[in-house]
Amino acid sequence: MNPIPYGRQFISDKDIEAVVNVLKSDYLTQGPKIAEFEKDFAEYIGCKYAVAVANETAALHLCTMALDVKKGDNVITTPITFAASANSVLYCGGEVDFVDIDNQTYTIDLNKLESKLSKSPKVTYSGVIPVDLAGYPVNMEELRYICDKYGLWIIDDATHAPGGYFIDKNNNTQFCGNGNFAQLSVFSFHPVKHIATGEGGMITTNDKKLYDKLMLLRTYGITKSPDLLEENHGGWYYEMQELGYNYRLCDMQAALGISQLKRVKENLEKRNLIAKKYNEAFSNLPIQTPIVSQKIYHAYHLYIIKTNKRKELYDFLHKNNIFAQVHYIPIHLLPYYRKKFGWEKVDFIESENYYEQALSLPMFPSLTEDQQNYVIDKVKEFYQQ
Ligand SMILES: *Cc1c(COP(=O)(O)O)cnc(C)c1O
Repeated sequence: MNPIPYGRQFISDKDIEAVVNVLKSDYLTQGPKIAEFEKDFAEYIGCKYAVAVANETAALHLCTMALDVKKGDNVITTPITFAASANSVLYCGGEVDFVDIDNQTYTIDLNKLESKLSKSPKVTYSGVIPVDLAGYPVNMEELRYICDKYGLWIIDDATHAPGGYFIDKNNNTQFCGNGNFAQLSVFSFHPVKHIATGEGGMITTNDKKLYDKLMLLRTYGITKSPDLLEENHGGWYYEMQELGYNYRLCDMQAALGISQLKRVKENLEKRNLIAKKYNEAFSNLPIQTPIVSQKIYHAYHLYIIKTNKRKELYDFLHKNNIFAQVHYIPIHLLPYYRKKFGWEKVDFIESENYYEQALSLPMFPSLTEDQQNYVIDKVKEFYQQ
């Protein structure tokens, strides 16, 4: 069997054609494809505004800037996420604090969050960055309720969950990133994610003020928009109003994104079928498969199992050309964070237990039946040894 990665992109002939058409056009960057991609993505997610950016790390940085994170601010996330989720707070001079994960959903434990906030009257927290880990949608309605009580904003790191949703108290479907609860949500278009543009990212929001600020910060802090200018000297005139960055996506990437987006729903269904087959195949093995719930639609960016033979299984699968992976090493244990904040290994017990046991098996829409059967056979073989 050829090597099977844990995740990968699928590029169709139509995707290639879309990119080539941009190469033959007048605009390589800042052309019409950016706005088109933003419109299509906003429609898919069900929010009002979307801002395309260079990658999700840039998206997170713009979000913390737009929400005015500064020195003295404390922002909460979970240890089980990619480092970028937390780094964005440090870029703006803020401090990161953690709340442990729930041991079933692997997302932020809302009870522990509430208890931390109620017990820390002296520390001023300004926001929370929840992560829809592996594609499991955090219940943003409940999180919003807690955050309102303490005056906190929410940036949803929804990159694993475009198309995923939870059912709210009134039985409404709430898609991840739809802007009904979180001020801002962020997505990545790195090739292993649901949509691939090479590098790429998106911010979604329903807040017009934040949207205007993000648009400004994305392009150097410069605007030419007549209704935003303080003066106007003529057609050439622009103003730099904030210290911004060049965090733009280019038109070639946006064209690829638009084309990929056309298959994203079908791919999401495929991911759910792959997960169902794994769940059934592993039901008699000493493996914890992802939680299944009627209250959510899982987006399965990752298919994460837990096993107390994680290292042995990882090595066995790699020997058999199955490139399982671990997501993630708890952030507070990464050398940079350990040195900076000096957290001890026992601080976040569920996150650390999770890290000892978690393994991501191959999960991507173009995984063939033969490939999946091979993965299942090898996992079973491992436990029969
Ligand atoms: C991939 C990922 C990021 C970073 O995305 P980039 O586009 O590579 O900057 C951030 N957070 C999570 C949870 C991710 O999976």
